Amino acid sequence: MTLRHGRELLVMPGPTTVPDAVLNAMHRPAIDIYAGELLRITETCLAELRTVFATEHGVYIYAANGHGAWEAALSNVLSRGEQVLVLESGRFATAWGGMAQTLGVEVLTLQGSLRAAVDPARVEARLREDTARRIKAILVVQVDTSTGVINDIPSIRAAIDASGHDALLMVDAIASLCTMPFELDAWGVDVAVAGSQKGLMMPPGLSFCAAGPRAREAHQRADLRTRYWDWTQREGPEHYQKYCGTPPEHLLFGLEKALQLILEEGLDNVFERHRLLAGAVRRAVEVWSGGEALEFNILEPEQRADSLTTVRMCDGFEPKTLQAFCRDTCGVTLGAGIGELRDRVFRIAHMGHINAPMIFGALGSVELALSALELPHTGGGVEAAVRWLAAELGEQVSPSRSSTSEAPA
Ligand SMILES: *Cc1c(COP(=O)(O)O)cnc(C)c1O
Repeated sequence: MTLRHGRELLVMPGPTTVPDAVLNAMHRPAIDIYAGELLRITETCLAELRTVFATEHGVYIYAANGHGAWEAALSNVLSRGEQVLVLESGRFATAWGGMAQTLGVEVLTLQGSLRAAVDPARVEARLREDTARRIKAILVVQVDTSTGVINDIPSIRAAIDASGHDALLMVDAIASLCTMPFELDAWGVDVAVAGSQKGLMMPPGLSFCAAGPRAREAHQRADLRTRYWDWTQREGPEHYQKYCGTPPEHLLFGLEKALQLILEEGLDNVFERHRLLAGAVRRAVEVWSGGEALEFNILEPEQRADSLTTVRMCDGFEPKTLQAFCRDTCGVTLGAGIGELRDRVFRIAHMGHINAPMIFGALGSVELALSALELPHTGGGVEAAVRWLAAELGEQVSPSRSSTSEAPA
């Protein structure tokens, strides 16, 4: 028996649900790429991307996924034989480092944990050891989508400053941009990358690179620059150069609409919506964890991201059966574990175009799976999520509550 007929719910951490308004904006014929509307769309998107990265400096749009933006970031500022320091906190910074290695960069890794954020004190200590100042850049992920951790970028910046080291700070904000605060200029981040298919509510296929002045300086000397990714080439006078070829028009139509939706909601409201929905998910997981089947992957509550929650199954329990039940019986696609956490965790994304009924639907389906599959857990997770949200929202709407309570019965 299956209950999956009806609209299906995708709660994997990318790609995420695309709003109908964004899909509709893309449903139109191709247009002139040399003049007219498309030039305006590019200018609007670049200006609005500067707003979401919180920078006044350069932003570049690539017809590529997040891996493309990784390569763009590395190749624009580094040279063969230079060193980078990868701050491990899951799969993604390490994979970014692996790409640097392939490009001919020497990669050092500050080993971390799959269950905790990067420790800024260890970053400071590691950089102090580099007395010859050979490390040219530090690679770190803001939200690691495999573990569900949020790294504290301003504290890492402070640790770099305290060490007196001048390495560039390069941040992967692919799973955090437009879900949690990120501020390139104010935080002193030199390069940041993001992708279209996570918090930005777009189909996959576009990625972005934002670069501050120190990165631009390094760019002048970088010998890994290639024709396609090169920032200088993309700043040429022709619109055509901004994309190093035919602009990905339809994705740009969608991006313009997605950015409009985000900025109309307001970035602070977007972050608050993510905080509330993430809090509801965490409340449910906390209750379910009362049994022996599962627990949070990230041990410290304040290190859990508002973009997704990684739930760890305990020894003897398989996430696969639970994921299959949610997909085949409920029509809910959860994220699977990746890398070292494959077959160990499942992931509930709460990023992008997501609202309360979607989250309650996802949580209700997971709780149904836990019950139907008789996995040892404490019930009442969904109810706890509802109550937690009611308390949070109740504070925000209390004036109307007091006025209705005064009304005659
Ligand atoms: C999704 C993701 C990537 C990779 O993006 P692709 O579009 O799949 O290439 C890199 N880093 C993080 C943190 C991600 O969440």
